[in-house]
Amino acid sequence: MPEPTLAVGGLVPFTTIDFPGRLAAVVFCQGCPWRCTYCHNPHLLPRGPGALAWPDVFGWLASRRGLLDGVVFSGGEPLLQRDLPAALTEVRALGFATALHTAGAYPERLAAALPLLDWVGFDVKAPFAEYAPIVGCAAGCAARQSLELLLASGVPHEIRCTVPPQLDEATLGRMAAELAGFGVAHFTQQVCRPATLPMKHPE
Ligand code: SF4
Repeated sequence: MPEPTLAVGGLVPFTTIDFPGRLAAVVFCQGCPWRCTYCHNPHLLPRGPGALAWPDVFGWLASRRGLLDGVVFSGGEPLLQRDLPAALTEVRALGFATALHTAGAYPERLAAALPLLDWVGFDVKAPFAEYAPIVGCAAGCAARQSLELLLASGVPHEIRCTVPPQLDEATLGRMAAELAGFGVAHFTQQVCRPATLPMKHPE
């Protein structure tokens, strides 16, 4: 079987806050199809090979067995990587628990990855009919489908929302009501870091 190809834009060797209950490394995947106005990792947005070769990252992870117990795939949007399930399988074979940070741009790929995941941090951007002004395209349908898949999977997760200025109280209220309709009683609100504002959507 061919080696997985994963575009890796960066690596955080140790975190206690990105994977609940785990000492983990974070693998930042390169590329995202969206352009959120507040993106905190704009250098990870362009598609491309990434700064790090996956075999090198995997070799480093192998050297961390016994020191870490989890690996988080973040981004960018990790589900842009077609080989993510193969990489998750490899990482699990090393004995690590696996986590994903996603905004749900690719429901079919999320469905393939869910059986290989121990935890998911899922970003909801806005009420699903109101994604375009935030992410730069009408992506709410894909995000809603991904959320439904995650909730049906039983994989432990956190639903969260970064709150930029354009998400006012009324919009957050509509979002909370919509999520409640899916059975999500609570979502974490993250403060938008002003230093990253604003990023313009491409024309
Ligand atoms: S989904 Fe938005 S915030 Fe996340 S990496 Fe893509 S552009 Fe940035």
